[in-house]
Amino acid sequence: MSIEPSKTDAIRDQFERFVVPNYGRFPVELVRGEGSHVWDSANRRYLDLFPGWGCNLLGHCPSPVVAAVKAQVDELIHVPNTWYTASQGRWAELLSERSFGGQAFFCNSGTEANEAAIKLVRLHTPRERFKIITFTGGFHGRTLGATAATGQVKYHEGIGPLMAGFRYAPFGDLEAVRKLVDDETCAIMVEPVQGEGGINLPPSGFLEGLREMCDAQEMLLVFDEVQTGCGRTGEWFAYQHFGVVPDVMTLAKSLCGGIAGGALLTKPEIAPSLRPGMHAATFGGNPIAAAAGIATLEMIEDQRLLERVGVLSDYFRSRFQELAAACSSISEVRILGLMIGLQVDADGAAVVQRCLEEGLLVNCTQERVIRLLPAMTLSDSEAEEGCNILAQVIREVS
Ligand SMILES: *Cc1c(COP(=O)(O)O)cnc(C)c1O
Repeated sequence: MSIEPSKTDAIRDQFERFVVPNYGRFPVELVRGEGSHVWDSANRRYLDLFPGWGCNLLGHCPSPVVAAVKAQVDELIHVPNTWYTASQGRWAELLSERSFGGQAFFCNSGTEANEAAIKLVRLHTPRERFKIITFTGGFHGRTLGATAATGQVKYHEGIGPLMAGFRYAPFGDLEAVRKLVDDETCAIMVEPVQGEGGINLPPSGFLEGLREMCDAQEMLLVFDEVQTGCGRTGEWFAYQHFGVVPDVMTLAKSLCGGIAGGALLTKPEIAPSLRPGMHAATFGGNPIAAAAGIATLEMIEDQRLLERVGVLSDYFRSRFQELAAACSSISEVRILGLMIGLQVDADGAAVVQRCLEEGLLVNCTQERVIRLLPAMTLSDSEAEEGCNILAQVIREVS
């Protein structure tokens, strides 16, 4: 790891004095990115297999998105949602056509999309029904409603009282869900594949079972596709792998090719429950996000990137299964599209640190899951190089 010492020290000092210390940061100042590479202030290049924490699914600075944003900021930067803009309407139409024909509410982040979903399901069902079932190991964001929806105690400590009404079931356990449902339950909210929880795939029949339960008891099914959505898994949305259609779906992360943006999509018959005055987001669906969102969808289509996800996914799967067979410290490989988790019996933070020193950026979640969320624009040789470095580091650390 090479850092330009004088400059980085000055920046660290500035952060220590002026920035709230709520993030652990690597001692590296990033200055530039292109595709699956980023450069630091000492001009060291890193191969990034976790670009933008999942937001940069198209890689760093994808040129169609850059061009769309540049053109947009010359025309109009922001207008409120009391006016029509052509781009917001077109963006909503493109998302609707690629999903279940619903309507969109736009916001700026994943947690905001989930807050909107929580309000919508409570508004749409009878007043006495307010409980929402979510899952342990799930992750739905950091605002208070979404934090309460997140079934991980470590995120709840010290911030209570939590918003009431959430009940947590073990991910994958239909029987546990059935026991939690009562007359007051209005919805089930779930990530089709848990991301932050460690790339946990749903057991077969699980999502189908949730859909059946919701239909039988007039509850709404909400899929949080903030991490899984917009092509990450090789389908537009992860639910399309499982043939289970939600009533409400939330999106963010890669939605706008790296620009901040979030959305809730809902079946049209449910949408009017979010009536005027009941919910809003000042910057939601703004012209820059809309231009970037449209450019993102078009780039994925023009460059046939959903198909590319399948090819890359197969490559990662075969490399990591081979590695797991040869290396006892990998106990499981979990992959759907370009969501990749390696369960390791080793210190995950040490793996991340050693990879950084070797010029490779990866993530560790839940202490022992090495998580990769690579760009769909990754080349064959970049995929190979990344696997080589990670294999060497895991062998060494374990
Ligand atoms: C990242 C994430 C969120 C939160 O998104 P923010 O944009 O950080 O608010 C919510 N749900 C899932 C599944 C996520 O991965």
